[in-house]
Amino acid sequence: MEQDTANATPTTEKLCLIAGAGPAGLTTALELLRSGSGIKPVIFEADSQVGGISRTVVYKGNRIDIGGHRFFSKSKWVTQFWASVMDMPERSRLSRIYYLRSFFNYPISLSLDTLKKLGLVRTVKVGMSYLKARAFPIKPEKSLADFMINRFGRELYGTFFRDYTEKVWGVPCESISPEWGAQRIKGVSISAVLAHALRSALHIRSKEQETSLIDAFNYPPHGPGQLWEKAAEEVLRLGGEIHLNAKVSRVKKTPQGWAVTVTKADGTNLVAEGENFVSTMPLKDLVASLDGVEVPQSVREVADGLVYRDFLTVGLLVPRFAEVALKASGGKVRDNWIYIQESDVKVGRVQVFPNWSPDMVANPEHVWMGLEYFCNIGDTLESLSDEKLKRLGAEEMAKIGFINAGEVIDSCVIRQPKAYPAYFGSYERIGELQQWLDKQPGLLAVGRNGMHRYNNMDHSMLAAHAAAELIRKGETANPEARKALWNVNAEKDYHEAGKEK
Ligand SMILES: Cc1cc2nc3c(=O)[nH]c(=O)nc-3n(C[C@H](O)[C@H](O)[C@H](O)COP(=O)(O)OP(=O)(O)OC[C@H]3O[C@@H](n4cnc5c(N)ncnc54)[C@H](O)[C@@H]3O)c2cc1C
Repeated sequence: MEQDTANATPTTEKLCLIAGAGPAGLTTALELLRSGSGIKPVIFEADSQVGGISRTVVYKGNRIDIGGHRFFSKSKWVTQFWASVMDMPERSRLSRIYYLRSFFNYPISLSLDTLKKLGLVRTVKVGMSYLKARAFPIKPEKSLADFMINRFGRELYGTFFRDYTEKVWGVPCESISPEWGAQRIKGVSISAVLAHALRSALHIRSKEQETSLIDAFNYPPHGPGQLWEKAAEEVLRLGGEIHLNAKVSRVKKTPQGWAVTVTKADGTNLVAEGENFVSTMPLKDLVASLDGVEVPQSVREVADGLVYRDFLTVGLLVPRFAEVALKASGGKVRDNWIYIQESDVKVGRVQVFPNWSPDMVANPEHVWMGLEYFCNIGDTLESLSDEKLKRLGAEEMAKIGFINAGEVIDSCVIRQPKAYPAYFGSYERIGELQQWLDKQPGLLAVGRNGMHRYNNMDHSMLAAHAAAELIRKGETANPEARKALWNVNAEKDYHEAGKEK
């Protein structure tokens, strides 16, 4: 993959420099190449592999995703793009909530089974508080807590949404903007849940199905990283460059465009110049690395104040699920992922990778799980050594009855800084940063952390597509045309429920 000749600064070619070989960076590069723009993309990727948060890590032949990635999009352009890179089998989805040592459907269905597991008293409370929330909604909605209580009632919110959301973000739901709920939960209400249950019972699939409720999705046999590795191969085949272990550390305005200083793994630097620079690196890092251009103090403040949530996965290889989980699950655990709602453990979610694709595990007899923990770099959890985290993971899984103590065959830890761009901190002032960026010809910020948006792969790709179009048409100096970028994923009714999936 690495083209170490660093042919990044030929003088005769028009270059587009790109920071990051995740979905956004690779899509930008492929679009420039496939559209015949005549502009050569040169990607600098800080990591040793492509794919970004959508990469797949291989540990002794076992494959692990950063969260398990469904390929689903409402955009035809995106699905065609994926299909042009590789064929992906369709998988059926099962994800449930584990609570009170029982499995509950996700999204919660108000079935007899759910009510039985919740018990009569809780069920009555759920019903009453839902009716109360409908009759007397909190107005105005000032926080995510208000948003969710208005849609689910206080009891259901307290039972299934509050603790998990706080595990994800590490702050009370009262401190999170209701906008996050509007982006992630809108459309998922009790009525949507009931309608979905009815449609499923009648085997009717709705075109407008909310993302949270989707029953089937595509997934490459070797995980999402496989698709992005193939995309990277095509970038190289069509004449683009990809430099791995190459971190963009400085971004300087020049009379011709932009020059980036790239720090390589061995500590040496190279400088590359191009007319355009597409950044998919975190917006905060981009602003901090700018040089040769005056950045207003207010814009720096917004960038500095952006907050992220970090994430780590403990991979656990075991011979089997324990009896408690098997029994609760009806004999076999078929879930792709399971939300852990139990309050006596820190783990937030468990991925069961062979249920995504049998090729994710080296030995098909084994169960290969990803235990997901939400954290902040430097906090008590994240500061634990890998060895301690592996032990914690094994202990927690044994505690909730997922595995038998002492049966771990192997384990590993994968850390993912800045997994989630947060909708608090200086987020409410992000418009100031966007407006300033739109006045910088040739400098485009795209992607999830690139735009500080809770993007799925498809949104990152649509923004990348828009960026490639602006570059191809020579319209990066036009702030009006650049609005197309920020309009991606601005619709409020797309996202998924309170959980990443
Ligand atoms: C737990 C979890 C589950 C998810 N599940 C799904 C899902 O099911 N479906 C879905 O569609 N999406 C899902 N997503 C979202 C998906 O991962 C992202 O939308 C997607 O990876 C964003 O692509 P990107 O290219 O914008 O950013 P990234 O994937 O973050 O890629 C950015 C790249 O830039 C590199 N980089 C950063 N700084 C620099 C620098 N200074 N110099 C050079 N390179 C740099 C990084 O190393 C990285 O490779 C999930 C995310 C998480 C956290």
